[in-house]
Amino acid sequence: MSKIVLVGANHAGTAAANTILDNYSGNEVIIFDANSNISYLGCGTALYIGKQIKGTDGLFYSSKEALEKKAATVHMNTKVQEIDFDKKILKATGKEGNIIEQDYDKLILATGSYPVTPNIPGAQLDGVNYVKLYQDGQKIDADLDLEHVKSVAVVGAGYIGVEIAEAVKRRNKKSMLFDIMGGCLNGYYDSEFTADMDKILADGGIDLHYGESIKEIRSKDGKTVSSIVTNKGEYDVDMVIMAIGFKPRTNVAKETLKLGPGGAFLVDLHQQTSNPDVYAVGDCATIYNNAKKGTDYIALATNAVRSGIVAGHNVCGTNIESAGVQGSNGICIFNYKMFSTGLTLGKAKELGFDAAYSDFKDNQRPEFMEENDEVKIRVVYDKTTRRILGTQLASYCDVSMGIHVFSLAIAKEMTINELPLLDIFFMPHFNKPFNYITMAGLLAK
Ligand SMILES: Cc1cc2nc3c(=O)[nH]c(=O)nc-3n(C[C@H](O)[C@H](O)[C@H](O)COP(=O)(O)OP(=O)(O)OC[C@H]3O[C@@H](n4cnc5c(N)ncnc54)[C@H](O)[C@@H]3O)c2cc1C
Repeated sequence: MSKIVLVGANHAGTAAANTILDNYSGNEVIIFDANSNISYLGCGTALYIGKQIKGTDGLFYSSKEALEKKAATVHMNTKVQEIDFDKKILKATGKEGNIIEQDYDKLILATGSYPVTPNIPGAQLDGVNYVKLYQDGQKIDADLDLEHVKSVAVVGAGYIGVEIAEAVKRRNKKSMLFDIMGGCLNGYYDSEFTADMDKILADGGIDLHYGESIKEIRSKDGKTVSSIVTNKGEYDVDMVIMAIGFKPRTNVAKETLKLGPGGAFLVDLHQQTSNPDVYAVGDCATIYNNAKKGTDYIALATNAVRSGIVAGHNVCGTNIESAGVQGSNGICIFNYKMFSTGLTLGKAKELGFDAAYSDFKDNQRPEFMEENDEVKIRVVYDKTTRRILGTQLASYCDVSMGIHVFSLAIAKEMTINELPLLDIFFMPHFNKPFNYITMAGLLAK
C-alpha cells in the first residue's frame, strides 16, 4: 500500500488518478488542484464562444465527487506551494488560507501549462484576455455580449488563435487575427496548406494581419483596452485575446527536478522524473517524439491522458512504457478540416533530415458519386532512409481517420516504399481504388 499524491487534476492528473483507482486497490490517493473544476475540455471553448454548441455542460467528464466515489481524497481550490523532496512532504494552501501538509510515498506532478503573456505595455489592461481555463472562456463569452465590444484582436494564429478568431466572427464582431509569422498554423503545416486555411479565414470575414508583431496595447481611459499597436500600425479594438502559446508550469519543483525541452519536467518513458519517486505527466512534462526520434515538448490533451495512464500504472508497480507521440492534431474552421502528424517539410529540413515530400490532390470519391470533396495530402519522408516523417491532410470532408494511419506509420517506422501496397479497402461511398493515401505512396520519388 502506497500513499500516492497528485498535484493537478485536469486531463493528465485525472487520467493518472483513474488508472490507479480503477486498477489497483489499497493505495491512498490524495489529489490537490488549485482550480475549482476538473477535466475541462478546452477544445470546447471556441465552440461555445462561437455558439456552435449549446453550452458548457458536456465539457467536463470528471469531478471531485466522481474521484471521491472511488475513495480518493480531493482538495480543490488548494494550491501546492512547496515540496520537500528529501522529507517527501508538500505544503498546500486552501482557498481560506488554510495550510495542509501532506506526506507521500510517490508523487505525480500534473501541474499543466499556463498561457504566455507578452512583455509589452498594456498587457495587464482590462479587456486583455487569455484562453486556458473554463473561467477564461466564460469571461470572453460574457464580454462579447457587451454592447461596446465590436472589434476584437486575436493575437497568435496557432490552432487556438485561429479557432477563437472564427468564434469571434461567428458572434458578428469584427475579428482581427495577428501573427508575427507569414501565415497561420505554422508549426503544424507547410505553407501549401496554411495558405488554404488563410483563404478560408479571409473568406469567412476575418482580417488577417500577418508579419505583424504586437508592440503595445493602449487605453484611452487608462483602464480598458482601446487599441493595439503593431510594427505596422495602430488598430482600434475593444478586446484583445492572447493566444501566443503555453509554457509548462514547473514552479513547484524546477529547482530540484531536471528540466528538458521547453523547460518542462524531463521524464523517461515511464513518466519518471530525475527523482525516482516523482512522476510528471501532461503539459508540465516532456514527451518522446517518434518522428524526431528525440525528447520534445508537445502540449496536447491526448498526450496528457496517455502520459497519465502510463504514470498511473508505473507508480503502482506495473512496468509500462510510453509509446511516444507524433504530435497528431486536427482543426476545423468554417467547416474546412486539416489534420497533421509528425514533421512538416520545413521542420524536417530544419532538423537536418534529408526530407522530401509527395503531394497529391483528388476527389475523395469516384466522380459518379454525387457528394464529393477534394482531398489534399502531403507525405513527408526521408530520402535516405525512406522513413515517413509526417503527413498533412485537408478537405471539407472528414478524412481525420486517415491521419491515424500515418501516426501509426511514423510510430512503427514505416517507409514511403511500403505505402503503395498498404491494404486500404475501396468502396465508392468512402474513397477511390487509387485513393489519396495509395497515390501519395505511388508518386513518391
Ligand atoms: C483553448 C484550448 C483548446 C485546446 N484544444 C485542444 C484539442 O482540441 N486537443 C488537444 O489534444 N488539446 C487541446 N488543448 C490542450 C489541452 O487542453 C492541454 O494539453 C491539457 O489541458 C493538458 O492537460 P494537463 O492536465 O497536463 O494540464 P492542465 O490542463 O494545464 O491542468 C493542470 C492542472 O494543474 C493544476 N495546478 C497547477 N499547479 C498547481 C499547484 N501548484 N497546486 C495545485 N494544482 C495545480 C491546475 O489548476 C490545473 O487544473 C487545448 C487547450 C486550450 C487552452
